[in-house]
Amino acid sequence: MATTTGYVQRLTLLQAGHIACVWVGPSPASNELLTLTLLVSDSEETMRHKRAMITLLGEAQISRRQVDILHPDDSAAIDQVAYTPADDSAPIQVDAIEVTQGIQDLAQSIPLLAGKRTVVRVYLSQPVGPAKTVQGEIAVRTGPLDVPFIIASENVVVLQPAEAGDLPIKREDVDRSLNFVLPATQEGPLSLEIASITDTVTATDVAFSGERRPAVWFHASAPLRLRVIGFRYPQDGITHTPTPLDFALLQSWMARAYPAGTQFVTTTITDATAAVPFSCGDINAQVAAMRTLDMDAGGDERTHYYGLVSDSGFFMRGCAGVPATPSPDAVGSGPTGPGTWGWDTDGSYGDWYGGHELGHTYGRKHPGFCGESESDLDNYPFENGQLANGNDSFMGFDVGDPANGIAMRALPGTQWHDVMTYCSHQWLSAYTYLGIRRRLADEDALGPTGAPGPAPGPGAGPIAFGSGRPDARFPQAAPRRPVAEGPTAVEEAKEMVSLSVVGTANLTRRSGAIRYVNPLAHARGAKDVGHDAMLRVSDGAGKALGDYPVAVRLDSEIMPGEEVRGIIDAVIEVESTARLIELLIGDEVVDRHRIGGGAPRMRALRAEAVPLGMRVEGEAEEAEGLTYTVQVSTDDGRSWQTVAIGLKTPSTEFDRSQFPPGQALKVRVIASNGLERSIVMTDAGRD
Ligand SMILES: [Zn+2]
Repeated sequence: MATTTGYVQRLTLLQAGHIACVWVGPSPASNELLTLTLLVSDSEETMRHKRAMITLLGEAQISRRQVDILHPDDSAAIDQVAYTPADDSAPIQVDAIEVTQGIQDLAQSIPLLAGKRTVVRVYLSQPVGPAKTVQGEIAVRTGPLDVPFIIASENVVVLQPAEAGDLPIKREDVDRSLNFVLPATQEGPLSLEIASITDTVTATDVAFSGERRPAVWFHASAPLRLRVIGFRYPQDGITHTPTPLDFALLQSWMARAYPAGTQFVTTTITDATAAVPFSCGDINAQVAAMRTLDMDAGGDERTHYYGLVSDSGFFMRGCAGVPATPSPDAVGSGPTGPGTWGWDTDGSYGDWYGGHELGHTYGRKHPGFCGESESDLDNYPFENGQLANGNDSFMGFDVGDPANGIAMRALPGTQWHDVMTYCSHQWLSAYTYLGIRRRLADEDALGPTGAPGPAPGPGAGPIAFGSGRPDARFPQAAPRRPVAEGPTAVEEAKEMVSLSVVGTANLTRRSGAIRYVNPLAHARGAKDVGHDAMLRVSDGAGKALGDYPVAVRLDSEIMPGEEVRGIIDAVIEVESTARLIELLIGDEVVDRHRIGGGAPRMRALRAEAVPLGMRVEGEAEEAEGLTYTVQVSTDDGRSWQTVAIGLKTPSTEFDRSQFPPGQALKVRVIASNGLERSIVMTDAGRD
C-alpha cells in the first residue's frame, strides 16, 4: 500500500455519484488523480464505507484540510481516507481560514466578487504552554505556476491556550484572527497558503500543523451604479446640507456591504424645491424628475438615484420605491446626520440608512422585525432578523476603509441584523446580499439604454450585454438621436411630445400634486402605466386629448394605520396642442398643471467660479409657468447631469467638489413651460 498526502484540489463525481475522481496534492499544479468507484458487487457495508470516504473528501475540499489517502502501490483506487493527523509536536494548530468580503461562513458558501475588498482571516490555536503573540504571512497566487505574492498580517494575535479550538469566539472578534487584506482581485482563481507564523517576542518562526490551503474563485459582478443627490434647504435662517462625511460614508458603506466589485458613484447637491418640512415623497419626486432628465440626456439607465437630507434642520423619515422587477428608476431618499442610534459611532448614520432605502430600490422588502410591518413573505431564514442563528454559521465582517478611518471588525451574526429590518446593528445578511446580487445582475443585463441588448445584426457576432469585464461594458452608449439644442429646435413643432410628469399622491386622502412636467428630447414611450391615478390632457379650448392611467409607486415605509402615499413618475406622449394636465385620483381632479403657450426665450448665460462652487446666471423672460433646469456635462456634451430642477429663475449655484480638479465642464440651462423648451449652453472651462 502507498499513501498520498495532500489537499483536495478538485473533486468530481461521475455517473450519478458512482465514481469519484479526486486530485490530491500540495498545490493545484502538483497533484495526482485517485478514484473511488461504487460497484454493484459491493456489500452494503463496503458501500457505506465508500460513501463516507466521498463525504470526507468533500469536507476536506471545503475545509482545505490535508488528507492521507491509502491506495495500492500499483493502483489509483482509494482504499482508505483520513485527515492527516495533527502534528502534536507543532506548537500551533491552524483551525480554519475564512475569506470574507462582508458576510461569510466557514464553508465559503458566499461567492467572492472580483474587485471587492477582501480579508483573509486565519484562525490559530496554541493548545499548550503560555500564551504566545504571533503575526504571520500568507502566500497567494492566481495560477499554479505563478510566483506567490506574500502578504503580511494586518495585526498580531495573542493565542490563549484556553481558547484553543474555539472557532466561534475567534470568528466574532477581529483581534482573535490574523487578518490579511488581499490586493485588488481579478476574476479567476486564487490559492492561499500560510507562508510563516512568527513569534513577535522572539522574532522566530513557529512551526504549525493542520494547515489549510484554500483555493477560492473570484467572480465577475455587475457594478453598482449610483447617483447621490444631497438636498439643501433653508430653515431658521440657516442652510442645511449633507456634509462631505455623509456623502463619503454612504459611498464607503455601499462598497463595504453591498455585493458589487465595482462602483460607479457620482454626487451632487441641489436645492429642495418643496418647502420645509418636506417628506421623503416630496424628495423622491424631485429625485425622479432629475433622474428622468439625466436619462433623456444620455445617462446610463441602470443608475440608481438616492436623495440625502441632513437632519440638522428637521428629521425627514426615509422611503423608497420597491419594484417587483428590475427597475433602476425606482428612487429613494433618507436622512443623515451624526446621530449614533445607540450603535453607529462613525459620525454619519446616512450610510446604513441609505443602504436600507436603496435596498428597497433593488426590490428588497421588510422581513418583519423590530417593529416593521412584514412585506417580505419569503420566510427570512434567521431568527429575530439576525444575520445568523449562531456564531458558527454566517459571520458579518466589515472589511474596513482606511481612507475614511473605518476599522475592520467582525459583526457577530447573532448581534447584527439584516439591513432591511428596523433593528439596530444593520448589515447585509447572506439572504439580502445574494438577493441584491441577483437583482444587480438582472439590471445590468438591461443595458445602458434600459432595454435588453439589440438582436445581433446580419453577420455580426452576438452582442453579449451583461457579460465581459464590468469596466469595459459600462461606458457603451447606444446610438441616440442628437439632443435638441438651442431655441431653433423647438420651433420645429412636433406632432407628439414626450413628457415626464412627476407628482406625489396620497391614496388615503385622495389628494396629490403634479410637481414637475418636463418635455423630453427623446421619445421614450409610455412609462408607468397603471390604474392608481389618471392624467387627463386637454387643449386650450378645453377639449380632452387623452386620458393616461398611471401607477402610484408606493412608499416603502408605510406603517399600519398610516396614509398610503407614493409618487407618480410617468412618461406620456401628448399632442403639441396640449395646454392642461389634470391629475385624477378616484374620479376627482386633485391638481391641475398648465403647459405650453409658446417657446420660452432665453438669452445669455454666464457661469463663473465662486468659492467651492459655480454660479450660473441666465437671462430670461419672467413668465408664469416657466421653470429652469441646470445641467452639467463632463464629457463635452455627450451626457448631462441635472444639478438643479424646478427653478423659478435661471440661476443657481452648484457645488464643484463633486468634480475632480481640472475637470472641463459644460453647463446648460433649459427653460421649459412643460411642453416646449429652449436651451442655452456655456463652456464653463476648467478650474
Ligand atoms: Zn424600509
